Amino acid sequence: MLFKSGRSEESHSLSEIGSGFFAPPKEGGTQNDKSKADMTLKVFIDFDGTITKQDVGNAFFKEFGGESCTEYIAEYKSEKISAKELFRKEVAAIGLLDEKKAKKFLHHQTLDGSFKGFVGYCRSHNIEFHVVSDGLDYYIEEILKHHGIEGVSFFSNRLEVLPAENGFAKLTIAFPFDDADCTRCACCKRNIMLTKCGEDDISVYIGEGYSDRCPVQYADIVFAKDELQKFCQQKNISYFLYNSFDDVVKRLEELLAKKRLKPRREAEMKRREAFVRE
Ligand SMILES: [Mg+2]
Repeated sequence: MLFKSGRSEESHSLSEIGSGFFAPPKEGGTQNDKSKADMTLKVFIDFDGTITKQDVGNAFFKEFGGESCTEYIAEYKSEKISAKELFRKEVAAIGLLDEKKAKKFLHHQTLDGSFKGFVGYCRSHNIEFHVVSDGLDYYIEEILKHHGIEGVSFFSNRLEVLPAENGFAKLTIAFPFDDADCTRCACCKRNIMLTKCGEDDISVYIGEGYSDRCPVQYADIVFAKDELQKFCQQKNISYFLYNSFDDVVKRLEELLAKKRLKPRREAEMKRREAFVRE
């Protein structure tokens, strides 16, 4: 199992090639000749703010853990504490969870209206996809189920909700996909992606925020919006701008039709680096 962290610090400007694709300027000799029409797509999708409209994790802890959670989230965002420390503090702030209220809260969360169609698209085209989240299984499962989306593979942190008394539950947090060497994320999306992809797979990453910064550096095709778009620009990572999963489907269809699937050279190098370190 690959469990290492790695982040590039180089910064360049971007040039727009056109039709929503943003790529860094090409340097001499960087053209990738490993293009294969029959490479297999594997798709990795962030949950909070990508599948859902808002960051459910943050909203959940603010709702049930009170004001202190807002402070903890700010500490995390300014990199004073890691995601694991954040979760431990937030879980402690909740104490006992009112399960009925929690379910009601989760059922009110809104999904990107096009996600269900995207799941159908991947399934009907035999495209493997996984949700990768630095959030919690508790709400991912509940929200997807509530919206009639079942059987989706996902990787996340684990919140055990153990019934206590009077409808309240005790919470225990666990990090089954952490990386011992990484001080930022609790669930290592990069490792999941690298473990799930073989050499002839083309990895597609769809995200929007902080926890997507690390994995996009290792992905061949990146769909970015919001904060992640800015990060891709700063770090010279080629990406497609998207607003909804309908945009993603449209792009993938174009790429598949033109047989323009190929590994991204910089991502390939990062992957190689990660495996060599291992
Ligand atoms: Mg997110």
